[in-house]
Amino acid sequence: MKSAQELKVIAEKHSHLIRNGLNKLSSLRYGIPGALGNLRWTAELILATYEQASTGKPPTSNLEYRIGRSGGGFDRLRFKFSEKTLPTPDEVDKSIDLSIPLNKQKNGRRITIPIPIYGGGMSFGSISLNFMLARAMAAKTIGTFTSTGEGGYPPPLVPYKDHVITQVATGLFGVREETIQYAPIVEFKYAQGAKPGLGGHLLADKVTAEVAKMRESSTFTTLYSPFPFHSVYSVEDHKKHVDWIKTVNPTALVSVKVSTPKDIDMVAIGIYYAGAHIIHMDGSYGGTGAAPEIAKKNIAMPIEYAIPIVHKYLTSEGVRDEVTLIASGGIRTAYDVAKAIALGADGCVIGTAESIAVGCTHCGNCERGRGCQIGITTTDPELSLFIDPKWGAQRIVNLYNSWTIQLRQILQALGLDSIKELRGRTDLLYYLK
Ligand code: SF4
Repeated sequence: MKSAQELKVIAEKHSHLIRNGLNKLSSLRYGIPGALGNLRWTAELILATYEQASTGKPPTSNLEYRIGRSGGGFDRLRFKFSEKTLPTPDEVDKSIDLSIPLNKQKNGRRITIPIPIYGGGMSFGSISLNFMLARAMAAKTIGTFTSTGEGGYPPPLVPYKDHVITQVATGLFGVREETIQYAPIVEFKYAQGAKPGLGGHLLADKVTAEVAKMRESSTFTTLYSPFPFHSVYSVEDHKKHVDWIKTVNPTALVSVKVSTPKDIDMVAIGIYYAGAHIIHMDGSYGGTGAAPEIAKKNIAMPIEYAIPIVHKYLTSEGVRDEVTLIASGGIRTAYDVAKAIALGADGCVIGTAESIAVGCTHCGNCERGRGCQIGITTTDPELSLFIDPKWGAQRIVNLYNSWTIQLRQILQALGLDSIKELRGRTDLLYYLK
């Protein structure tokens, strides 16, 4: 671990991201160790993410950018290759294929993304429109996707619609037939790994006139997304949901986002048989600072445990190659992505890493209307201006580019030609005892 003084020097390099009110980062600057981040998102990981978002390359400032210090899960998993065999960024073989298909069924629209990663749902209301735009612009540049989350589909996103997933969640906020028809992928959100069983709350001071209009509600009124979907209590009910989307938009792929209960294998097979193309499992540790800490840490199964359970069960049922398995909830680095895939996922969804790319300090004030001094999780018209969409998009693209280099480095060191060859290769991992 780096000393407070070393971290302070690195933080100074990113001082353009330091604005008034960033207490945690300010504390770091005054040399208080541990003031930035936590054991999962350590100060080094946060600073390394800033650096990658600035340069588009793996960090060169000797920061630990691959693992955190949680002492478990991804942080104790390692790949079986020697550091000496890891190519430098300049030596990376660019022909190594990182693409994954999102529709593995025999019929329907073919969608392939060039990297095994896309952006997860963060709703208008929970985040600013400018940050949503930055994410959508980045998704278009990379050729991947971002998700609207559950707060409706703001019209400024329409120019990016080929790269925007629209979400249907329990509150049905802003769900309209026209936006379902725009979407190449429609995502049902049954639960979120950071707060399963709790639904969602958007506190009153974030419900500005624009947010209320989009959500067809009243200004400055707390909005609740119930748990569960009160129209779904069985796989048959769920199939009616999938059929509804296929009727409104016959070409859309259907993704189903669920949390990770201990019977996640049964949930996953039900999702598959209802006709979904993508099973999106969201483990604990994701979410913004608006998710209660006690829920994040104590309800859902960590994603590292859920992935192999579902991968093996779908394989034993003979359907693994007919559905795409996506993992989220605590994916912080390119190494986490590669480990999730080696455990059995096809790809990953990220959210917090994109926020950190544009300057999030992990301060945990996300739920308040004027709590985010960076302009990410705010709907305040003035604070939102802190994110210039083009600037934010470039930083997110740079982060993806750095992760692309790292994923190829890992595959090259393992002697693999494609990310698809890594799926389920737990034999290439070992667990530090
Ligand atoms: S997004 Fe949330 S955690 Fe990040 S800086 Fe804004 S308020 Fe803090």
